[in-house]
Amino acid sequence: MGEDGDWTWVLERQCEECGYKADALSRNKLGPRVRAVGGAWRELLGRGPGVQSLRDGDDRTWTPLEYGCHVRDVFKIFEERSRQMLKKRKPPTFKDWNQEVEAVKSDYAGQDPAKVAYDLASNAGKFADLLDRVDDNEWHKEGFRSDGPRFTVESLARYMLHDVEHHLWDAREQLDG
Ligand SMILES: [Zn+2]
Repeated sequence: MGEDGDWTWVLERQCEECGYKADALSRNKLGPRVRAVGGAWRELLGRGPGVQSLRDGDDRTWTPLEYGCHVRDVFKIFEERSRQMLKKRKPPTFKDWNQEVEAVKSDYAGQDPAKVAYDLASNAGKFADLLDRVDDNEWHKEGFRSDGPRFTVESLARYMLHDVEHHLWDAREQLDG
């Protein structure tokens, strides 16, 4: 689940696990979808103590709470990246973000689910607001990840939506089985 090239395939084909299809939404539906996913996460994280434990005890998998912390940070980081792409004349190169290191450094497992839920939905709302304001002639603006892949404002949003929706699927698998 590191931020390597592995997940960019989702821009080309449907995810067989969570069913996400990157080109299924028109541009003006991206903001509303981000907002909706933020709401779904908030609901999930409010389900009680179960969000802090793993159903099958597999310690290589994140708990729903840890996924939630990750998604909260994804919304924030991708909003910043999109903002840079929209603002700068020259395509920016994004700083590397190691998700596994972040999870340990920020003690994802020890965070308060109610606070995470609130911040996650708030970050989703901010990112959705930004997407709602992108003009037709701005969706193609570019940025680069430090390891090479090129994104546009549009493809970054579609890529990010898979990340947060796939992890919602992961977390529901944990909670619902
Ligand atoms: Zn998926």
